[in-house]
Amino acid sequence: MALLDWLYPPSCVFCGKMETAKGSPFCTVCHAKWEMARRECVTAAGGQPVAYYRHDAARGEYYGSAVYLVNYDPGDEDSPVYKLLGGLKYHTTRRLTDFAAKELAAMLRQVMPANPACAVVTQIPRLPLSVQRYGCDHMKLVAVETAAMLGIPYQPLLERSGDALEQKRLSADKRMVNALNTTRLSKKYAGQLIGRTVILLDDLITTGASLHAAAELFIGAGAFQVIAATLAHTERRLK
Ligand SMILES: [Zn+2]
Repeated sequence: MALLDWLYPPSCVFCGKMETAKGSPFCTVCHAKWEMARRECVTAAGGQPVAYYRHDAARGEYYGSAVYLVNYDPGDEDSPVYKLLGGLKYHTTRRLTDFAAKELAAMLRQVMPANPACAVVTQIPRLPLSVQRYGCDHMKLVAVETAAMLGIPYQPLLERSGDALEQKRLSADKRMVNALNTTRLSKKYAGQLIGRTVILLDDLITTGASLHAAAELFIGAGAFQVIAATLAHTERRLK
């Protein structure tokens, strides 16, 4: 590793500087920006930021929540959050998945019960077409690593069908229908969820449709609770 670092010095994924903060894909300056983005979201009492998702936006009914690390503004290309999310999706590297997992595991330790009963870690699977195009399911890699850090088993509980549409192209109502119609429990694990705590990871929460659809499947299959966590949270832009 040391030799590789010497041959190919790690550079900041954000600004390209040939220097990185310890355990971070960012240089010292960019890492400080990440820490600032993170601190802006944590409450004064040290509480983790929570996004609520709802099935019926018009009636404002809340159905669930997800903890998240940072706020994401898709227009702010000058933010390390932008670089992290884009890097994870389109230029996945071990440094990025490790960093995302480390941050998620640290946050989950704050919100999880000390020894959640029969817990399992899983993720919202990437669309099959995207896996084909970009070569991996980035959040699966993150979830496997997060699970290892938490000492909780990872299982690929969900499957997405090939004709699922990208959520970001859809309105809130259509996102929910799309998520419900195209996400299903893996047959292999569906019968093993009774009484379990499912820790469900995704990169971004917007309307929460994907998380909500998945949580309904888990609860429907007998899970005791679902703890959802994402890297970032973004407000949906109304066109
Ligand atoms: Zn940098």
